[in-house]
Amino acid sequence: MSVVVVGSVNLDHVVRAPRIPGPGETILGTDVAEHPGGKGANQAVGAGRSGAETVFVGALGDDAAAARLLSELRGAGVRTRTRTASVPTGTAWITVGDDGENVIIVVPGANASITALTDPEREIVASAKILLMQQEIPESSMVDAARTSQGLVLLNAAPTREVSPDLLVLLDVLIVNEHEAADLNGAPAPAPELITRLLEQVPAVVLTLGAEGSLIAVRGSEPVAIPAHRVRAVDTTGAGDAFCGALAAELDRSDPAGDLLERLTAAARFATSVSALAVQRPGAASGIPTRDEVLKAYP
Ligand code: ATP
Repeated sequence: MSVVVVGSVNLDHVVRAPRIPGPGETILGTDVAEHPGGKGANQAVGAGRSGAETVFVGALGDDAAAARLLSELRGAGVRTRTRTASVPTGTAWITVGDDGENVIIVVPGANASITALTDPEREIVASAKILLMQQEIPESSMVDAARTSQGLVLLNAAPTREVSPDLLVLLDVLIVNEHEAADLNGAPAPAPELITRLLEQVPAVVLTLGAEGSLIAVRGSEPVAIPAHRVRAVDTTGAGDAFCGALAAELDRSDPAGDLLERLTAAARFATSVSALAVQRPGAASGIPTRDEVLKAYP
């Protein structure tokens, strides 16, 4: 019983400033902070806090950021199988203006070095019940992982980028928000139409709709709508990562022989509660609640 996340890990540097500077301009910032990030690591934290035996497979540099990020992952109960690349740990450089506007530069660093899995990494993937991936590492390694998996293969197609037919054909569940779904579809369309189109390419789709909740769709069945909890959101950064990690963890608890729509619907209900708590707390990974906290808030 386990979840394996093959994905990215970054150290996020967040600068606060009165506004976003223009080209060639220098302004004074008011604050700087570092946070663990990367969609892979955030989702692994989501799965770990949700109580799943979770392994994170990824790459770090030989630097101080690596030690810090490893200890964050382990603190969330995540086991790590990371390799040391000859380039620095991935970083994101984020400037947030007082009006909430932001600009972000991501330097993939070590994350870009995972072009294929090693044999020990393949062994870990092959032993997992759930494989969860995102799009912040080279696609060749994701195809490798998906081919190796003997469990359910989940792809959160974020950040948005083209997904090759080689990868699509290996997926069991595609998790996307409306923007990502529209990009994969080639044009925006109403949610039911997006789902119909995506189901032509993958057996199951989870479409997340922010404060509107999510739609769960499996080929051959009517989609199921799961409303979000009504809460006062203070920071929705990473809501999607909390949701994906929790979804994977709850799928891991379900019977692999069970009906996929029922398994996905139950898992998405739990993930909806996890993300409802996460958006009420600041921070991405740091705002993700534990399973006990979730069951207490939404019994
Ligand atoms: P992000 O890119 O910001 O991490 P996302 O676009 O991938 O997020 P969303 O669809 O925004 O993902 O959110 C995922 C889930 O989190 C939703 O399906 C919903 O259950 C929950 N959620 C998001 N925003 C809110 C909110 N304001 N109130 C309650 N629940 C929310």
